[in-house]
Amino acid sequence: MERVRFAPSPTGPLHIGGLRTALFNYLYAKKHKGVFILRVEDTDQNRKVEGSEEYIHKSLEWCNIQPDEDPFKGGEYGPYRQNERKEIYAQYIKALLSNGKAYYAFDSNDELAIARTEAERLKGAFKYSADNRKEFRNSLSLSTDESEALIEKGDYVVRLKVEPNQDVVTCDLVRGVVRVNSNELEDKILMKKDGMPTYHFANVVDDHLMKITTVIRGEEWLPSLPIHQLLYDAFGWEEPQFMHLPLILNPSGKGKLSKRDGDKNGYPVFPMAWNESSGYKENGFIPEAHINYIAQLGWSLGEKEILSLKEMENTFDVKAIQKGGARFDYEKAKWVNQQHLAALSEGELINRYNPYFEELKEAVGEQLNAAVSLIKERLVLLSDIEKEADCFINDPVDYDAKSLKRIAKIDISKVGSLLKEGITDNEIEKLKDFMQKSGEENDIGLGAFMQVLRVAVVGSLSGPNLIPLLTVIGKDVTLRRLERLISVQS
Ligand code: GLU
Repeated sequence: MERVRFAPSPTGPLHIGGLRTALFNYLYAKKHKGVFILRVEDTDQNRKVEGSEEYIHKSLEWCNIQPDEDPFKGGEYGPYRQNERKEIYAQYIKALLSNGKAYYAFDSNDELAIARTEAERLKGAFKYSADNRKEFRNSLSLSTDESEALIEKGDYVVRLKVEPNQDVVTCDLVRGVVRVNSNELEDKILMKKDGMPTYHFANVVDDHLMKITTVIRGEEWLPSLPIHQLLYDAFGWEEPQFMHLPLILNPSGKGKLSKRDGDKNGYPVFPMAWNESSGYKENGFIPEAHINYIAQLGWSLGEKEILSLKEMENTFDVKAIQKGGARFDYEKAKWVNQQHLAALSEGELINRYNPYFEELKEAVGEQLNAAVSLIKERLVLLSDIEKEADCFINDPVDYDAKSLKRIAKIDISKVGSLLKEGITDNEIEKLKDFMQKSGEENDIGLGAFMQVLRVAVVGSLSGPNLIPLLTVIGKDVTLRRLERLISVQS
C-alpha cells in the first residue's frame, strides 16, 4: 500500500509550488490506490503564521484534493502536527544517542559565531563536522563527567555524528542515483535546546512512523537527502523512495517564481486570497482548471493537456516528470481555464456560479440557457461573465470608437431602415436570408448589415454570435437598439 504525504510548514499561505507538491502527492496516491496524508511541520514555532494551517486546508478543499489522514480527520498514525509529537521525538533521539550515532553539543551561539567568522576569514564555509568537532564543546570532546554536568543543566543540542569519508548514496525517482562524500556534510543539529526537533530529524522519524513509502517534495530539499539517508541508516530503517520535483521558474525562466514577480506582472501566486493578495479563486479561475494547469508544471501531459482530476489520477506517471525547471506561464493558465469553462454544461455553470448569473436571469428569463451557451464560449475567467452578459441585459450606452470608425463608410440610415423593415417582417432566424436578398437588391454587402446590427446591439464589433444573440434578446429590444444607433449616428 503506497502512503505519501504533503508536509507543509504553516509559515504562510500555500503558494503555487506547495500546491503542486500537494497535487502530485495526491495524484500519486490515487494512481496507486494508496493513502494521501497531510502532516503539518510546525516545529519552528517562531516562524509559525496564524491562519496558515487553515488556509492550507481550505485551499486543498477548494482544489478538491483532500487528504485521507490529517490533523482534523486524524488517522492511525497521528498526531499529524509535529508540535504534538514531542514525546515521540524525545524517545527517538535517545535511541540515536545511545547507539552512538548522535551526540550532545554544548557550544553557545557566541562560540559558534566566532568559529563561523574565523572560517569566513579563511575563505571557507563553516561546518561542524568530524574535521573540527574535537575543537568544540561536546560529549565527544569533553570528559564524561563534564558532559554529564552540562547535560544535567539541559543547555545542549543534539547533533548527528557524520562519519568522515563515507560514500553516501541516495536515489531519486526523477534524478536517479545521487552520490556525495560525507566530508561535504556537517553534523546537523537534530534536537534544539528547547527540546524541539529540527526539520531533518522530525521529518525522517515521522516518515518512518507514518509508514510513508514515497516522499514527493520540491527540489529545494534534494540537498537534505544525504542527511536523511544517514538518519535512516543510523536508525537501521529502510528509507522510502524519493521524488524531488523540479523548480518552478518565473515566466522569463530566470529565477524562481516569486510573489514579487506575480505582483509586478499581475498574476496571483496563491490559490485563494491571503491578506491583501487575491488568489486564483478570486481571479475567476475554476479549481479543476487551476490544478490542471498546476499539474503541467513539471509533468508533460502529452498531446491531451485538458484533463479532469480523474483523468490526471489515471495518467499520472513518474516517468513523465521533467528534471529541468518548469516555467510558469500565466497566459497558458488562463487558456486552460477557458477550456475547462467551455467544457462545463450551461446548467453546471449556472448552478455552480449562480450569483454571477442573477441579473442575466432576470433580463432573459427562460432564455437563460441559450444566453449562457453564447457567453460560455467567450469566457476566459469567471470574472468575464459580467462583461459578456452585458449585451443581453443592457442597451449599449456608448459606442466603441474604433468600431464606429470601421463602419464609418456605411450609410447607417439606409442600412438601418432596411434592417428595421427586415426585423419587423421576418423571424429572426430568417434574418440572414433577408439581408442577403435585400443586399443584392440594394447593392449592400452582408457584412455591412451585420456590422451595423452588431454595433447597434452590442455597442462594438465584438460579442457573441449575432443571430442567436438577437433570438435571445428578441425583436423589440433589437429594434430599440437599432433605432438608437440610427438616431445617434445618421
Ligand atoms: N516542511 C517542509 C516544507 O515546508 C517539508 C519538506 C518535505 O516534504 O520533506 O516544505
